[in-house]
Amino acid sequence: MRLLLVEDDRMIGDSLRAALRLEGYAVDWVRDAAAAQSTLASERFDLVLLDLGLPKGDGLEVLRALRSRHDATPVIVLTARDGVGDRVAGLDAGADDYLVKPFELDELSARMRAVLRRHSGRAQPLLTHAGVTLDPATRQVTRDGVPVLLSAREFAVLEALMARPGALLSRAQLEDRLYGWGEEIESNAVSVYIHQLRRKLGADFIRNVRGVGYFVGEASA
Ligand code: CA
Repeated sequence: MRLLLVEDDRMIGDSLRAALRLEGYAVDWVRDAAAAQSTLASERFDLVLLDLGLPKGDGLEVLRALRSRHDATPVIVLTARDGVGDRVAGLDAGADDYLVKPFELDELSARMRAVLRRHSGRAQPLLTHAGVTLDPATRQVTRDGVPVLLSAREFAVLEALMARPGALLSRAQLEDRLYGWGEEIESNAVSVYIHQLRRKLGADFIRNVRGVGYFVGEASA
């Protein structure tokens, strides 16, 4: 999952980015409204965490511009503004949810999972396929009921593939979900994670179309 964090407070941004990377998210961070506008106009993210009080503009403007382009990327507003009016304005401008600072990381994570689940059209929180079950909330994976230990990045690859059974994901699309800007990518990293996942989940669990990408389940036409 690739996230854009829009936050001008360096301490909050640093700690959020570090914590979310540990959870296996690819996190890119911009610090003002203008940078958020240009980044969102040119790149795709699975989720945006958006502070409202920003230099060079306002978070609400960023959100309105995104929605005026009919871009449905899920947005969670993070705000120190605790007035009811600000929360209503955020939701009316197209936010999917909001959190008032200060908040606990656990609550942010839970809300992120809920928003992503609703956005993907899944009411069912567990992902299952061929005896393998992945729980995005607890980050536990089982194979035939037996827990399987995965690294954060192996989990991220598996979650991306299981979230859309049959959909082909290219190596570049998987790398996008694993790494934020400026993080060094080993050229064979995705192959290594796929290899590890096949070793742990069965050789046939993740399939590939040579030169195109990887998928779980029946390939869609
Ligand atoms: Ca701020």
